Amino acid sequence: MKDETKIVVSGRDPKDHAGAVNTPVYRASTIIYPSLAAIRGTEKIPYTYGRRGTPTTSALQDAINVLEGADGTMLTPSGAAAVSLAIMTGVSAGAHLLMVDSAYQPTRKLCDQLLSDYSVETEYYDPLIGGDIANLIRDNTAMIFMESPGSQTFEVQDVPTIVAAAQKAGVKTAIDNTWATPLNFRPLDFGVDFSILAATKYVVGHADALLGTVAAKGENLIKLERVHGNIGFSVGPDDVFLALRGLRTMPTRMKQHQQAALNIAAWLEGMSFVRKVFYPALPGAPGHDLWQRDFSGAGGLFSVELDPCSEEQLAAMLDNMRLFGMGYSWGGFESLIVPCKIVRTAKPFKTDGQMLRLNIGLEHVDDLKADLNDGFARAGYEV
Ligand SMILES: *Cc1c(COP(=O)(O)O)cnc(C)c1O
Repeated sequence: MKDETKIVVSGRDPKDHAGAVNTPVYRASTIIYPSLAAIRGTEKIPYTYGRRGTPTTSALQDAINVLEGADGTMLTPSGAAAVSLAIMTGVSAGAHLLMVDSAYQPTRKLCDQLLSDYSVETEYYDPLIGGDIANLIRDNTAMIFMESPGSQTFEVQDVPTIVAAAQKAGVKTAIDNTWATPLNFRPLDFGVDFSILAATKYVVGHADALLGTVAAKGENLIKLERVHGNIGFSVGPDDVFLALRGLRTMPTRMKQHQQAALNIAAWLEGMSFVRKVFYPALPGAPGHDLWQRDFSGAGGLFSVELDPCSEEQLAAMLDNMRLFGMGYSWGGFESLIVPCKIVRTAKPFKTDGQMLRLNIGLEHVDDLKADLNDGFARAGYEV
């Protein structure tokens, strides 16, 4: 079966729920055991306590497993919590963590502000390091964390080469795959140990719930489940329902996001004041070759570097957009625009231009282009 079909059929069985197409929202903390043998654990029952899962959470887990090619998926209250879970599964006190320099900003904060307190040392590496990652692996390196393409600057990492170096040294790998989703890049097929999604973005897809997933196989899954239970993560059934609802249309939305983003990225590239477009799906853009080799599609999020402008000019543009909202998160049906704030420590990212990040939603591209065009004019660019 193709992914579009799998997404429609996975994680639901109307026969189990009075014929209802969708798995209902199970609200449960207490689960009543059917027998003493069940409470002793000698008789196996599927659910034991609300925090550990219900048919609602199983439905989402089953569907994500199919998409990821995973043995199991743990659900977390946010994408940030999914990142924490994967890292805490991979490291312990005294460990060295190799973190990509282009990681999502809160991931950097987790490393710099919390993991440091637990005696985990983070070293940031150039996202384009490729096979030279082997030179950074130490005796106590426990995990290599990737995010590809990188946040805000969209560097595409050479995942197979990094995974090969990690496996040779017995080091675990994790990847934040939120931009591609397993529809467009399947980390576990590339040998990555932990595949992370901020489901908040394309899975939920409607800017109305926060959720994260971490998928794994075999022994990795056993450890992942244990750490998940130890931390006490639990997700609300309504949010899981929204994620399941979003998931069913994800392939259709993703195709439209990609098509519209490519159209707008190519249009922007032709403008005299646009210095660079950071969208790996765009032919000739940075990372395009690796993207073409490893990915089967793209998200609709990218950045552009414009000629410099003053804060007043930028405000004239951004404060008066009709369609593009100024806000974080992304992956919903609505278009967004934010100025980039790029923090790098391994390799400086130098620009005196104005970097903007665009989330291309499901509006018509002609309307989006008109909104951008008017915004550029307000900022004083020659459109
Ligand atoms: C948004 C995002 C996250 C965090 O997801 P939340 O649900 O907002 O916590 C993690 N990684 C990436 C790449 C993201 O864009």
